[in-house]
Amino acid sequence: TTPLLEVKGLKKLFPIKKGMFQQPSFVHAVNGVDITIHKGETLGVVGESGCGKSTLGRCMMRLIEPTSGEIIFEGQDIRTFSKRDMHRTRRNIQMVFQNPFDTLNPKLTIQRILSEPLIAHQIPSWERQKLIEETIEIVGLNKRHLSRYAHEFSGGQRQRIGIARALILRPKLIIADEPVSALDVSIQSQILNLLQDLQEQFALTYIFISHDLSVVEHIADRVAVMYLGEVIELAKKEDLFRNPMHPYAQALLSAVPLSDPDEKKERIILKGDLPSPSNPPAGCKFNPRCHACMDICKTTVPELKEVDGNLVACHLYS
Ligand code: SF4
Ligand code: MG
Repeated sequence: TTPLLEVKGLKKLFPIKKGMFQQPSFVHAVNGVDITIHKGETLGVVGESGCGKSTLGRCMMRLIEPTSGEIIFEGQDIRTFSKRDMHRTRRNIQMVFQNPFDTLNPKLTIQRILSEPLIAHQIPSWERQKLIEETIEIVGLNKRHLSRYAHEFSGGQRQRIGIARALILRPKLIIADEPVSALDVSIQSQILNLLQDLQEQFALTYIFISHDLSVVEHIADRVAVMYLGEVIELAKKEDLFRNPMHPYAQALLSAVPLSDPDEKKERIILKGDLPSPSNPPAGCKFNPRCHACMDICKTTVPELKEVDGNLVACHLYS
């Protein structure tokens, strides 16, 4: 099957302001990411804060303009699109954010919040009200909520409204950036279940960005692990959680509690801190923290390569 979205060599550099006479320098927030996303799947994107996962998510729908690379959505590179074509495409790619508190205007009623995307995409007025009423119920709220303001709702309800807003145009792809991280654990599972129901009902494809591996284990089909702006492993969820290949993924996964309490696993404590993204080490960027580091790791960047049907960027596997 042809992928729904294909990201090729995607880079985002942010300039760092320095003294007037110094050479400009850059943070490679996203440093050459290749990812293929299939229709109907959920791709988890995980990594520590600052690894570039949020920037990657925003670049994928051009909320942040990438520095270079291709973003092929349904066979077309949306980076070449005019403003107008991009606007049209946004109907199909929507985003759910971590904090509905920040992204829902407290001065607007839910009715207005849900109308705005419909108006922006010229949905005829006779269709709008039907969509609004349908969608608010689908996310587990009801018509009576429409006349109320965002601040009147709890965190979980606000995220339902955020999801309704993303869903109202019936997109194909939803990019969710830490959609449950601001919520209580009990509410988290309700929202995750809602997202899974919606996926089935509307044949949605998800990119699910999270630092929380337990949440990703619950929802993802495949998982991309990022480190300093790069994907270092991309694997089927079961394979990654059972048998992570990259030493960084192994350390990250070792901190996740096992669902079977009889099983034992050893927590791998990483040495050293996350290096500055503006001045990463040569070769494999993980080498100063890696227990398996070899000579080649200090000079040569490992490519992301297929190993046993998954992808890993590590010299241990070449
Ligand atoms: Fe460790 Fe070398 Fe693999 Fe990097 S390439 S993760 S330093 S073994
Ligand atoms: Mg983030």
